[in-house]
Amino acid sequence: MDEPVLPSHRMAAVLVGLLACATACRDAPTPTLVRVREIRRPMGTYMAITVYAPDEAAGTRALAAAFARVEQVEAAISTWRRTSDASRLNREAGGQPVPIAPELAALLKRAAAVSAETDGAFDVTIGALVRLCRRTWRRRRVPTPEELSEAMARVGHRHVELSPDGKQARLAKAGMRLDFGAIGKGYIVDQAVGSLRRSGIQIALVDAGGDIYAMGAPPERAGWTIGVRDPDRPTEMQILKHRLLVRDCAVATSGDYEQFVVIDGHRYSHIVDPRTGQPVEHMSSVTVVAPDATTADAYATACSVLGPQAAVAFAEERKGVEALVLHRRDGDALARARSSGFDRFVLTEPAATGSDRDKP
Ligand code: AMP
Ligand code: MG
Repeated sequence: MDEPVLPSHRMAAVLVGLLACATACRDAPTPTLVRVREIRRPMGTYMAITVYAPDEAAGTRALAAAFARVEQVEAAISTWRRTSDASRLNREAGGQPVPIAPELAALLKRAAAVSAETDGAFDVTIGALVRLCRRTWRRRRVPTPEELSEAMARVGHRHVELSPDGKQARLAKAGMRLDFGAIGKGYIVDQAVGSLRRSGIQIALVDAGGDIYAMGAPPERAGWTIGVRDPDRPTEMQILKHRLLVRDCAVATSGDYEQFVVIDGHRYSHIVDPRTGQPVEHMSSVTVVAPDATTADAYATACSVLGPQAAVAFAEERKGVEALVLHRRDGDALARARSSGFDRFVLTEPAATGSDRDKP
């Protein structure tokens, strides 16, 4: 059917209407936005969401929807919840395929991709190894070689089987355990961001335990300011080594200062190399900027395993990805390595200490 043609006088009226609107829109003051913020505790972490919305009610509604989405995703992916699909997969390891929610299928796919591109330095099937480390560390000892090889036999991203339609999955080896500690927080941040966008929000900061997505910029500002903690003084929040200014990207930091154990004077990190079973050493923190929070979270952990030079090279090879690595040999001063584009995000940093000696 032909489109109805508007009579010329109506055309003129429409045009005048459009022009009037254009003028009015130009003259109208930018609508004031209201800042609304809420903190909850999903997945054993704190999650703070700040939004700028046209009014308080719209902001509150958007926050409620975002947290509801997070709750829905957590119900599928949390290995802490007995009833989640992820827990069911763990329980059924070595047995039958398990029906899984699309959220878990997407997360498994993303995790498999990061395992492939890091040659296995990142691996969400590391659960048995992480459990062993935690159990022995609690008793102030390190795993024996036998315990290590027994746990390592139950690790391997290639043993995750996902059906082609993504509706079922299976862990092929008995005793395998998924652990989404290195990617789950980033994933729920991205899910919250998606929900906020669907609610019409254009300016927001979503922070799940330090894994952050910065959407747009607060009014009259160029971006969101984010602090990277000083690994030497992690509990003193006011002492920030680096302050970053970011918008429309994610930032995640992995660090052994958050969780580590000292046994016989040796410091062991909670990040473990799945290929050797050995905890990462000498890496104090890795901060990654990436287009989305799932990627930033996974890459920050992967880069901790890769080590300073390989981590910087890894970031250099990837568009939209930058890395800042703070590392040290026992007793040495903190050294710093970063990818060439990282400085774009740096607002302030510690005075030059000569610690940039290994900057590539
Ligand atoms: P993150 O704080 O994001 O670096 O995540 C660290 C957590 O991820 C650890 O506490 C473990 O539960 C898990 N994890 C440790 N090493 C690895 C690894 N190489 N690949 C994937 N997950 C890991
Ligand atoms: Mg991580």
